[in-house]
Amino acid sequence: MATGWPTATWWRSSCWVEQRGDAWPCRLANRRPTLGYVARQLIDTFGRVHRDLRISVTDRCNFRCTYCMPAEGLVWLPREELLTFEEIERVARLMVERHGVDSIRLTGGEPTVRANLSTLIGMLADLPVDLTMTTNGVTLRSSAGDLAAAGLKRINISLDSLRADRFAELTLRDDLGRVLDGIDAALEAGLDPVKVNVVVMRGVNDDEIVDLARFGRDRGVEVRFIEFMPLDADRTWSEAAVVGCDEIVARIGEAFPLEPVDRTSAPATRYRYLDGAGCFGVVASVTRSFCDTCDRIRLTADGQFRNCLFAVEEFDLRALLRSGASDDDVSDLLEGAVTAKWAGHGISSVDFIRPNRSMSQIGG
Ligand code: SAM
Ligand code: SF4
Repeated sequence: MATGWPTATWWRSSCWVEQRGDAWPCRLANRRPTLGYVARQLIDTFGRVHRDLRISVTDRCNFRCTYCMPAEGLVWLPREELLTFEEIERVARLMVERHGVDSIRLTGGEPTVRANLSTLIGMLADLPVDLTMTTNGVTLRSSAGDLAAAGLKRINISLDSLRADRFAELTLRDDLGRVLDGIDAALEAGLDPVKVNVVVMRGVNDDEIVDLARFGRDRGVEVRFIEFMPLDADRTWSEAAVVGCDEIVARIGEAFPLEPVDRTSAPATRYRYLDGAGCFGVVASVTRSFCDTCDRIRLTADGQFRNCLFAVEEFDLRALLRSGASDDDVSDLLEGAVTAKWAGHGISSVDFIRPNRSMSQIGG
């Protein structure tokens, strides 16, 4: 390859690290200090330590965002295929206590459509983790107080347009007012920080980048602009529809002077407004993939363990849990699955393979 970079196939294989030598993985292995003794850290063959768990609690949703779900919805999982709260809590506890996971994000589908969600939050809040959730925000006026009281610490709320007609076209729901009110409700409930997720798509909402940045500054919430990823159920994604990080930052920078913030293992590249009005971030999964510092692992609503958002292979935790497996058996599955993690998704490569499941079925 002219650039000297590996092909996607090579990039995905563990050979890559053997060919590059071991300096990079060793450096990553100790990226974030761990508090206390961790019996069995989830480390892959590239030295990445996995501490950030995304748990999807449902594949269902009350919105139909065009970049995520088809207008008619998807075939929902039968109730009995979902992990129970007890099963979720068992896996989460094991990952925290034995494997050093220190951050848990609940997602979906739309997590707030799962009945008794605050009960699950209460169960997970007993664990020493940073507990957060991603939601479309439409029901937060009635639920934010309960979620916070149950132990939810912070929240990300999706908002892709500030124009009511466009919001309705994008989500197929006429609910902009309720989502804006949901953001206020989250702030009033004391969730901190409240962040706003914006998926930016060329010719769809990219003319609102500065307006959405201004909204974040005015409301005191951090906006995270997300590059459109090839995980839409309708499979309309194309690279032409992606508005890259550089363009997003340039457009905001023209309106508000800013400077970069030092990178952490978080997915967003962050920038600070020089006038002190806070920060915004860009999740640049497509144009600046952050696979080399990825510490995320995922559990789908039907109990499949995934070592990458774009993984084409899943590990059947639910079957194991329901077969009477011991904690050691569960740990063995987790460690094996993390060991099998590839170096990166290679979205821009010709041999990129889309996962069979779309974003709402995996848990974004
Ligand atoms: N329903 C909740 C929500 O919308 O916030 C949580 C689940 S949603 C799948 C999680 C995040 O993934 C949201 O911020 C959503 O905007 C984002 N998302 C969905 N499809 C996407 C895509 N094709 N590319 C980039 N982000 C996407
Ligand atoms: Fe539902 Fe979230 Fe997907 Fe929109 S992005 S359809 S709110 S799961």
